[in-house]
Amino acid sequence: MALSGIQIYKLLPQTNCKECGFPTCLAFAMKLAAKQAELDKCPYVSEEAREKLAESSAPPVRLVTLTADGREAKAGNEIVLFRHEKTFYNRPGIFIRFRDDEPLDAIKGKVQEVAEYAVEYVGIALTVDGLAIEATGDGDTFAATVQGVLEVAKLPLILIASDPAVMAKGLEAAAGTKPLLHGATADTWESFVELAKQHGVPMAIRADTLGALADLSTKIKEAGVDDIVFDPGVRDLRSSLTLNTLIRRMALKKTFRALGFPIISFPGECADDEGMVTVAATQAIAKYGGFIVLDRFSPATVYPLLVLRENIYTNPQEPIQVQPGIYEINDPQPNSPLMVTTNFSITYFSVANEIDGSGMPGWLLVADAEGMSVLTAWAAGKFDAERIAKAVKSTNVEEKLSHHKLILPGHVSVLLGELEEELPGWEIMVGPREAVDLPGYLKLWNAS
Ligand code: SF4
Repeated sequence: MALSGIQIYKLLPQTNCKECGFPTCLAFAMKLAAKQAELDKCPYVSEEAREKLAESSAPPVRLVTLTADGREAKAGNEIVLFRHEKTFYNRPGIFIRFRDDEPLDAIKGKVQEVAEYAVEYVGIALTVDGLAIEATGDGDTFAATVQGVLEVAKLPLILIASDPAVMAKGLEAAAGTKPLLHGATADTWESFVELAKQHGVPMAIRADTLGALADLSTKIKEAGVDDIVFDPGVRDLRSSLTLNTLIRRMALKKTFRALGFPIISFPGECADDEGMVTVAATQAIAKYGGFIVLDRFSPATVYPLLVLRENIYTNPQEPIQVQPGIYEINDPQPNSPLMVTTNFSITYFSVANEIDGSGMPGWLLVADAEGMSVLTAWAAGKFDAERIAKAVKSTNVEEKLSHHKLILPGHVSVLLGELEEELPGWEIMVGPREAVDLPGYLKLWNAS
């Protein structure tokens, strides 16, 4: 059971030394109770107290990690229901499923395509996280498929088989990786536990009700397997949303350990229509999916899902930023235009992509605005004349140019006068408000 802040406080040294970063032991205890601090921050907790607190301070949703050749797919360790309360930590893994009744060469070709897929989004490389391989017949065919897939790409795996003997063969073929075993039910869990223990891998259990999942996870933990993933057997959108939400709520709000495990989702089993499959996958990303298994690889589907996931799983208190400095686009020359913007990633890439697409060479000065967009930073006093002037001086951009002209984003034209005072000898020009209008604006550029 979770301990209250006062109960935790009684186990702490109560010296208020502040080394944990909190002003008092009581403040630290309250944060521990709210799962917003880690016990290790206090170096003075006794072993006895540590043991008592360990259960209470353990993450309410167990972290489960799949590995292959240095690649990892993690799910769990979440401490909030809503991203705006703090942040979500582990992006749900996107997996593509292959069934072993397809010709191996065809599977290998598709696996290659999945493994090679990489697309850049605001400076982040987005890729598919892993592969799911499902047995449809005997163990030898399953093993040959697993082996064949790993010859092409060593990505984290989910092995799907309902027969433990077939699973055993697949597991042997996956030696050297740490896959998730999917297929255990109320009838077969004991055999799957033996496999999971023997190979040190996590296992998923499928059951249609919360009671059945909790019952099974309790038995499996008692049998010696801690890394468990839930497959709430329901497949329709409404039931999936309800069960996923209840599992997360019970884990977080009631610290009900028997439901404190990540969830695996199969959007392809929710609908035949590709559009609805995407909707189901979207729901799983937003509402507590930990591993999401798609039946088809299509960049048109995968890309928006990866972008959505990125947006939901970034820390709202730490915007994605690019390094402040001077960026060269299209091989700029001394007489090329100099533009300034902020270091919020999406702002930077919007501006940089428009300049790049215009074909015009240019210098892009990125000022440190603490990761905020232009207007937000201006309103917060993080993108003012002083900061822009500081960026101009600290980057020595002047030495690269044959002119002294700086183009301001149109949204902050109000800074023109102040900036001219901060940068004597410079001509400050007001550019367009929106990045999309930069190519047209740059056509009129004249350095003289
Ligand atoms: S480091 Fe430990 S002893 Fe010191 S204030 Fe924090 S909780 Fe108390």
